[in-house]
Amino acid sequence: MAAGMFDLIVRRVAIDGRDGSHDIAIAGERIAAIAPRLDAEAEVELDGEDRLASPAFVQPHIHLDKALVGRRLPPNSSGTLAEAISLLHESKRAATVEEIRERAGIVIRQAVIAGTTTLRSHVDVDTIGGLRPLEGVAAARADHADLCDIQIVAFPQEGIWRNPGTDELLIRAMRSGADLVGGMPHWESDHDAARRHIAFCLDLAVRHDADVDMHVDETDDGRWHTFELLIDEAERRGWGARTSAGHVCAMAAWEDGFATAVIRRAATAGVKVITNPPTNLMLQGRGDAEPRRRGIPRIKELLAAGVTVAAGQDCVEDAFYPFGTADPLQVALIVAHAAQLGTPSEIAAALRMVGEDAARVLRLPVYGLVPGARADLVVLDAAKPQEALREQAPRRWVVCRGRIVAETIREQRLHRSTSGHEASGGHCPPSPPAAAAAQA
Ligand SMILES: [Zn+2]
Repeated sequence: MAAGMFDLIVRRVAIDGRDGSHDIAIAGERIAAIAPRLDAEAEVELDGEDRLASPAFVQPHIHLDKALVGRRLPPNSSGTLAEAISLLHESKRAATVEEIRERAGIVIRQAVIAGTTTLRSHVDVDTIGGLRPLEGVAAARADHADLCDIQIVAFPQEGIWRNPGTDELLIRAMRSGADLVGGMPHWESDHDAARRHIAFCLDLAVRHDADVDMHVDETDDGRWHTFELLIDEAERRGWGARTSAGHVCAMAAWEDGFATAVIRRAATAGVKVITNPPTNLMLQGRGDAEPRRRGIPRIKELLAAGVTVAAGQDCVEDAFYPFGTADPLQVALIVAHAAQLGTPSEIAAALRMVGEDAARVLRLPVYGLVPGARADLVVLDAAKPQEALREQAPRRWVVCRGRIVAETIREQRLHRSTSGHEASGGHCPPSPPAAAAAQA
């Protein structure tokens, strides 16, 4: 490559935390330079027109193996987690590797178009579906290796001791392409069984030098506190910084003093939390009289204590949740409502939960818009973060490993009744023609 010649330059973008407009130069798979005006050329140049550039989004918790099965199942009439799990048994029994691969692929492509270049997917490992979910999602991962990276978590959705044989299957899953060990300790019969469940999973992770990401206390029942057991067992093995806990809904029902103590312990141990408010706002608190629990952990307290919190999609049109588009901006907007994050700094925190903090959960090296980082970025049709969230801004371009992998052009038309107000359309920001027409 000649001096001053790059593969891609994204010109004239706004970057949160920096004043004015910037150019981002990419060489190969890496960001090579960022400056207000780069005197250089590239094979491909994009004009950002002062749109906001952000590091690509990271999806920290999704179930690609179950995505879109909702359209084949009867509705979850009680709306509970328990009914969702039993509804799923039949589809899990019937699902083939090929069908899982197809459904997962649809959602992966949707996630990439939404600006995501790294995902962490749980896959059910149990005696119902065996390792087919793992095989299906691993095949979908290979199909889309040019678009994104996917971490796969071996997830004992049915419990380990409640579903005899799952322990052996988890061992096989870790030998067959799963990257992380999952868990579902509150699904066991009691806390003793839950502790053995956690210990088994952590020992397996240590043997495979793998991270741990468990579904923890996804229940309204405040008597469950497997989050505390997870911190115990992770610390005992020096695995705190490699351990994450998803959901942790019961934390909302804990007594305040206990919650504060456990949150402090999580911060000290380096255990991270992934909240999944789309699904949990839908599922939890179903048995409550008013006031109703909302099924999300104490997000503000976790953040204040210094615990890394990421926000995940969890479900896409399955027995648990009828919606979901694998769009991190939608998840961030839902988490902002669920946790009441409305000030500029709180909005920034909500966005970090699908970006920087999610990257921390996935332990991605050198994430961000900085020279040397992998060139994974998204240019949003918005001028600033709050506008991106409010407008659910289209992702103008998505770049993965230095290559443009997706683009979106929004076209809207508004037709006024009086002449002279005939509206035009076209892609928008920073001042969308459709919006301008609406104000005319
Ligand atoms: Zn989940």
